[in-house]
Amino acid sequence: MIRFDIRKRDGLARAGIVSIDERRVPFPAVIDAEAIFPSLAIQSGTNVPLSAPPAFAGTYLVKNEGQPVTVHPALQNPVESGDVVMAANWHTALAHPRQYIIWLKDLKGKTPADTLWYAPAAALPSTLHILCYTGFDLFDYTGVDLRSAQGLFCTSEGEFPKDVLKSGICRCEGCRNGDLTLHNRLALEGEAALIRYFIGEANLRELVEARCRMNAEHVAIMRHLDADYAWAEPFAPIARTGVMRANYGESMQRTEVRRFAERLLTRYRPPHATVAVFLPCSARKPYSLSQSHRRFREAIAGRAHELVITSPLGLVPRELECVYPAMHYDVPVTGYWDAEECAYISGVIARYLALHRYERVIAHMDGGALKVAEMAAAASGIALEYSCRQHPASDAALAQLDQALTGERRIKDERLNGMLSYQFGIDMDIRGIISRGHFPELYYSRNHRQLFSIDTGTGQLRPTFEGWDLLPWVYRITIEDFIPEGDILVPGVLDADPSIREGDEVLVTGPQVIATGRAAMPAHEMKNSRRGVAVRVRKIKRFAG
Ligand SMILES: [Zn+2]
Repeated sequence: MIRFDIRKRDGLARAGIVSIDERRVPFPAVIDAEAIFPSLAIQSGTNVPLSAPPAFAGTYLVKNEGQPVTVHPALQNPVESGDVVMAANWHTALAHPRQYIIWLKDLKGKTPADTLWYAPAAALPSTLHILCYTGFDLFDYTGVDLRSAQGLFCTSEGEFPKDVLKSGICRCEGCRNGDLTLHNRLALEGEAALIRYFIGEANLRELVEARCRMNAEHVAIMRHLDADYAWAEPFAPIARTGVMRANYGESMQRTEVRRFAERLLTRYRPPHATVAVFLPCSARKPYSLSQSHRRFREAIAGRAHELVITSPLGLVPRELECVYPAMHYDVPVTGYWDAEECAYISGVIARYLALHRYERVIAHMDGGALKVAEMAAAASGIALEYSCRQHPASDAALAQLDQALTGERRIKDERLNGMLSYQFGIDMDIRGIISRGHFPELYYSRNHRQLFSIDTGTGQLRPTFEGWDLLPWVYRITIEDFIPEGDILVPGVLDADPSIREGDEVLVTGPQVIATGRAAMPAHEMKNSRRGVAVRVRKIKRFAG
């Protein structure tokens, strides 16, 4: 009997506890498959290739009684919630990156989300990261045992001739005793533990970006998945608490970065302003707290809309500086922007400028940031003005910026509206709403009733019940007729706004209660599962009566 509890999600990857009879083990896990699934050892007909057409697969793929349930891209899926899913021959998919993602989308798409995914014979210390990253949870020792039989020494960097075992790379019990089989098994278990840690910290992407460098196919799988933004985006959490490390070219393609640009260009509503100033980013986040940005803000004195040009996000309006990942990213700074970076970022800026026309755009920057601003201006037919020939934060440059803005009118602080439009896709009337608090810990209220606060961990606005009244229709979850005690579980959910992602602020409404909270899974998973926590409830209100 296998039961499991998914406790953490990180994109497609998941972590949690699997209970096998009386044993509870954390997953992603390497299991003794023969002991747990004894029927597999004597099963024939599991060797049907993933590429087999429906007629062939339908004839030869033997259905396993009980667990795990075999799935195949060409066949209808018999899997139900709570099952262990087995994708036989998945190790062969690793060599075909484009097909890997096609099969993955097919299999994930026709399977309930609350299932555990077993990839038999696929795991090596060098492949485990990409398997977990693409949504597999259970593995066995078959792959490493086979390498042991072939005399190969397995590490997370790849497989080497067995003599390498004596070189001192590893000091495990197996290596100390010259036992290749034991080393290979321990190396796999160690890698699984490392991956569980990274999923727990919600930064498996960073580990995958680093690990995949040793294998062209792994890089290709990551890139193909990134390229399918529409499919991958709903799996990505809306915010993470840690730092987003954008240390590779591919970081520009990761879902969170793409989503930021997407929402900037489709949802975000800028304040009414005739003048915009392009500014460089700062290492300190939010930018406003950095020394340089304090000086920029002093010189601008509210007379222009402030737009920060930065890699990899492209363009961050002042109002969105607290939003994830604008407040949470770290990039290597060399002053050099490569061609791909320039093309992507200038593209985002050009699209923004095409949507929002300013009478004047002042570039208060130098170096690579200035170069992309010039590329964007050229692409959108805008003549940039320049306010610095020196370092942007120098006294001379700041005096020039001040002078360039002489006579311009002050614009209103619309941080709240900017954040609301980005987060909820709503352009709200914010007249009469005032802010208090010490940036970035801001609270917004009207007539002494608090409406919103900024969650400085995730950079999201947190609405109160009164705040939700101002946001009709969006980010709602409706539940059955019951009074929740604590969190809302999936079986109680009737409907969920399809825009909801894991970590989103949501309003739960039912016949007897309303509740505020944070989504614990994306909307598609609430509809596509039978168990698990759907919403972590913060506040609950019963209707009188
Ligand atoms: Zn070892």
